[in-house]
Amino acid sequence: MLVVMKKDATDAQVRAVMDEIEKMGYRGVSMPGAQRTAVCIIGNQHPVDGTTLLALDGVKETIPVSRPYKLVSRETRPESTVVRIGDVEVGGAEPVVMAGPCAVETEEQAMAVARLVKRCGARIYRGGAFKPRTSPYSFQGLGLDGLMILDRVRKATGLLIVTEAIDSESLQAVEQYADIVQIGARNMQNYSLLRLVGRISKPVLLKRAFAATVDELLMAAEYIVTEGNSRVILCERGIRTFSDNTRNTLDLGAIPAIKELSHLPIIVDPSHAAGRRDYVIPLAKGALAAGADGLIVEVHNDPPHALSDGVQSLYPRQFEELMGVVARLKQTFR
Ligand code: PEP
Ligand code: MN
Repeated sequence: MLVVMKKDATDAQVRAVMDEIEKMGYRGVSMPGAQRTAVCIIGNQHPVDGTTLLALDGVKETIPVSRPYKLVSRETRPESTVVRIGDVEVGGAEPVVMAGPCAVETEEQAMAVARLVKRCGARIYRGGAFKPRTSPYSFQGLGLDGLMILDRVRKATGLLIVTEAIDSESLQAVEQYADIVQIGARNMQNYSLLRLVGRISKPVLLKRAFAATVDELLMAAEYIVTEGNSRVILCERGIRTFSDNTRNTLDLGAIPAIKELSHLPIIVDPSHAAGRRDYVIPLAKGALAAGADGLIVEVHNDPPHALSDGVQSLYPRQFEELMGVVARLKQTFR
């Protein structure tokens, strides 16, 4: 249930509502908005009787929240959330592009790709130091050394860094060096890891699992937000279907669905969806046309020799082309 406060409700009145909710045995989370503050009740297994709450000073109305997720639901917060990282806004007026190699391989490679994506206008650099690979024999990433390289990339270029944590151990290190902590598709339902990233001070990029519904993605986001971290960026990266023409099937319909159901920003990863570099630009166009708040794209200075995901990594000139497309579409869909 959502307790909507009157426009002129005081902080003390909001506090009194939270206290009453606690007395009832639940938790109240205050959601300040542009128009009014609301208090969301969480922890209830059954519908709550709002009679006592309605009688409190400053309370305008109580609204039942019909979805299983509460804090990430648009019912709870009608305004779209903008996640601010430095001077970059995800979910704001402009689509944001995060770009870089699948994995950090060497300092030279990481720096070369970073300079390229920066020159083309990207603001955020992606690159895995800890890689969750399907095969235990594939390149697993440079680990801590990779994080140190990313730190030097940030210092040299001013790009913000998004990189993945694969478990609680890597999270401790990633949290220190990343500007955004990525939780990969394989970990979307690792609930203990979700709770841990819910307690960090950095924003989280949460990728949809291959076999997860939109509701399951939003429930995973709820795990993070309920622990206190409200800076969550969702990512559609393709799901498993019978189609075998692409590595995964990009679920473009998830974008308007998520926009309707949740206030969180959603970006699209056309690289892991396509699995082939030639399809990345067409899928990126579709994603922006469908309302995505940005893209995360794999780019490599030498894709044929990449240690992971070379087949889907854009060549430098293709990335330049993609950035031109994004600039043009920005005008079209503004
Ligand atoms: C990645 O972004 O490098 C990655 C492993 O993606 P996903 O978790 O979507 O497979
Ligand atoms: Mn990859």
